[in-house]
Amino acid sequence: MTYALNETHDPKLKSFVASANDGVTDFPIQNLPFCVFSRADIHDAFRGGVAIGDQILDLAALAKLHLLSGVAAQAVQACAEPTLNRFMGMGRESWSALRLALSRLLSEKNQHEGTLRACLVPQSEAEYALPARIGDYTDFYASVHHATNVGKLFRPDNPLLPNYKWVPIGYHGRASSVAVSGQKFHRPVGQVCGAGQTVPVVQASKRLDYELEMGIFIGTGNALGETITIDRAEDHVFGLCLLNDWSARDIQGWEYQPLGPFLAKNFATTISPWIITTEALAPYRSAFTRPADDPQPLPYLTSADNSAAGAIDITLEVFLETAQMRESSANAHRLSQGSLRDAAYWTVGQLVTHHTVNGCNMQPGDLLGTGTMSGPVEGSQGALLEITEGGKKAVALSNGETRTFLEDGDAVIMRASCVREGAARIGFGECRGQVLPARV
Ligand code: CA
Repeated sequence: MTYALNETHDPKLKSFVASANDGVTDFPIQNLPFCVFSRADIHDAFRGGVAIGDQILDLAALAKLHLLSGVAAQAVQACAEPTLNRFMGMGRESWSALRLALSRLLSEKNQHEGTLRACLVPQSEAEYALPARIGDYTDFYASVHHATNVGKLFRPDNPLLPNYKWVPIGYHGRASSVAVSGQKFHRPVGQVCGAGQTVPVVQASKRLDYELEMGIFIGTGNALGETITIDRAEDHVFGLCLLNDWSARDIQGWEYQPLGPFLAKNFATTISPWIITTEALAPYRSAFTRPADDPQPLPYLTSADNSAAGAIDITLEVFLETAQMRESSANAHRLSQGSLRDAAYWTVGQLVTHHTVNGCNMQPGDLLGTGTMSGPVEGSQGALLEITEGGKKAVALSNGETRTFLEDGDAVIMRASCVREGAARIGFGECRGQVLPARV
């Protein structure tokens, strides 16, 4: 079931950490997202942390204070480890108990303020690691607008394949090349075969792109052979992050039939360091609906809770920062703005349930990508392939440069936030990655 609102969501809550209360931070006390971090200036161990304003609450340091009791105490011990997998596997009761304990500890009226201040690390002095050891990574294709836009480019007569509105489409991706925000990677080299050519050449990709996605971290898994039903799907989801599924369109165009993406996608995938828990997202849920003339989801993908609150209203933005912008300290150019709610054809719960309908097993820390989250309107497309209509229409950037696809030195920055009347504004931090020249 989706989470009910509780005292941790109260928009009036304030923290003794002043930067959490300024109304513009991504990390007010109502958010409390998890990361794995260490101090950038010394060789200390990576461990779990929780964002509060511009600080990180060091959960390994907190665990040593023995301020918590019961389930929350066991949970914070698990968060002292260099990955959050064990904490993720503890389940919803443990995640909620720790969230409640942290909300109370970080609130402005806390008797332990002095002790807790010693557990804060400024985010500006931290470096991040992947929050979990990702055993398996699956990427979906859950925006019907993206599927239609891309389908038009690859198959003008037949943009949306007949299965699309019935089955959540996905493929098994590569976990090893998923890295945390700040990732820099070399432009990939691969086989491409241009229009009218019959013999491919091996070269650096000339059509390098990003894909704006949400990442879904699985908390508790399921045994091989068991299904996670739609009623229970939300209970298995630990939280969401931003995900950039970098894509080489020219390599993709040549290799993707008949078995789907392969080397066009597995050279780099970047995620934001912070996992926003499903519980933190509770105030921003929306009804899940389908257009009247579309098929309704099959019964195994339908529940009253999923219909009432399956969607999530998350504003998604993508910015491009070119090398020239960095050198001249110009602002990054915003390429798109949209909402997960408008883009996603399937809910998070439906993706989890569909993935396990055949008995496929999930494990704590497994990562699902939603697929490129393109909205229905101009300006909300989540990839350059769509924005430039396959490279035909260059984008004019705010500093006078233009782009069809990414150039060396380009950094792509993704941000997300949730805003709703009667709730605090929360954000996802940023997911940043940069293209380096191809290795030659
Ligand atoms: Ca993708």
